Amino acid sequence: MKADTFDAVIIGAGAAGLLAAGFCAGRGRKTAVFDKNKKAGRKLRITGKGRCNVTNNCTPQEVIDAVTKNGKFLYSAVSSFTPQDVMEFFESHGVPLKTERGKRVFPVSDDANDIAEALYNFAVQNGAEFISEAAEEIIAEDGKVTGVKAGGKVYSAESVLNACGGSSYPGTGSNGDGVRLAEKLGHKITEIRPALVPLVENGSICKEMQGLSLKNTGLRVKDKTDKVVYEDFGELLFTHFGLSGPTVLSASAHMLSSAENSYTVELNLKPALDEKKLDARLLRDFEENKNRQFANSLDDLLPKTMIPVIIRLSGIDPEKRCNSVTKEERRRLLDLLKHFEIKIKGFRPISEAIITAGGVAVNEVNPKDMQSRLISGLYFAGEVLDVNAYTGGFNLQIAFSTGYVAGMNM
Ligand SMILES: Cc1cc2nc3c(=O)[nH]c(=O)nc-3n(C[C@H](O)[C@H](O)[C@H](O)COP(=O)(O)OP(=O)(O)OC[C@H]3O[C@@H](n4cnc5c(N)ncnc54)[C@H](O)[C@@H]3O)c2cc1C
Repeated sequence: MKADTFDAVIIGAGAAGLLAAGFCAGRGRKTAVFDKNKKAGRKLRITGKGRCNVTNNCTPQEVIDAVTKNGKFLYSAVSSFTPQDVMEFFESHGVPLKTERGKRVFPVSDDANDIAEALYNFAVQNGAEFISEAAEEIIAEDGKVTGVKAGGKVYSAESVLNACGGSSYPGTGSNGDGVRLAEKLGHKITEIRPALVPLVENGSICKEMQGLSLKNTGLRVKDKTDKVVYEDFGELLFTHFGLSGPTVLSASAHMLSSAENSYTVELNLKPALDEKKLDARLLRDFEENKNRQFANSLDDLLPKTMIPVIIRLSGIDPEKRCNSVTKEERRRLLDLLKHFEIKIKGFRPISEAIITAGGVAVNEVNPKDMQSRLISGLYFAGEVLDVNAYTGGFNLQIAFSTGYVAGMNM
């Protein structure tokens, strides 16, 4: 017969909850970790396209620099459990790691399941009990936590960690329960919205090129006043609804207006060539193809699916011979290649976001131990908090750092 009284109850067997459970149980605390799923770490298993970008091989300060909101709040936690600590943790728990471009760290196996299993085994081998139940309520009396209600039963505990995650990809179990449980106890919740989310175009240019992925592309996001709100260089993807891919997801974190049609994305399709060099290149291509039609002269310059779009937008007669393309027409083509504009209507829904922006307001949580300033014995860790960062392994690092601090203090 399993006991229903614990020192510590952790809600959510995700990145933050599992790490916290292992450290908490390792301190001799009788610990239970609850998850509504039968298998722990469901979101973890799909991270990094199934490869899990587990952290970033950088300094604590660089992690804070990559945090889009409330970086200061995280300083203490990230310094207590750094990216180096995360790497040592996994290496010493049977998961060899490798560092790739942008200091992104992955398991050598390229299998996110290895990360989830290592965390689960760490928690259970240190003595934490895994209970597959959804927590319905965190119970508090006189400003102090007393336990958790789950599966119609009350489990008493001196301390409870809310590590329920955010609201994106609800099929993984992280469906916003965390903020609902916190709000019930009087915690302030900041506006929940998608962050690191694909963009929906106003029009159908992207749809025409769906499936096309571009590398080495310059990306700029401009607001309605033409102010550049984000600039990046790298990979992106055209989809049936608009744009996705690493640079686009990072850009979305800077697009703070949720009003429709607030932004334009401008792509630099030839970032390695300045305007003078690109013009010389166009001249050379036209010279080499002088007796061919314009439509047949772009094969070396652009990916196949992009050519009809560029031809149409350039306004140059596709049947015109290259030797009769005017200087003005060449200028228009050059402009298009350097400033390819896509009007953005808005964002894909939060269910498709990599990260949830907003959550439990951090001014009501003590950054030194992740304990609530309102209810003693109540702790928070991971994405349920109002913190989020760019892609690159930083969001999991945040979950691990805050999970560690909570687990060491519960
Ligand atoms: C597709 C995708 C890819 C990603 N790739 C990366 C990446 O490569 N690198 C990176 O750094 N970040 C990545 N992220 C973000 C990262 O996964 C999250 O930031 C991180 O998992 C947050 O950890 P967490 O422990 O706070 O929450 P989660 O990992 O979401 O875990 C929360 C857990 O709580 C459980 N739960 C929720 N409510 C209850 C309840 N009422 N009772 C019991 N259990 C409950 C859920 O079932 C879930 O298991 C990705 C996200 C997505 C969606």
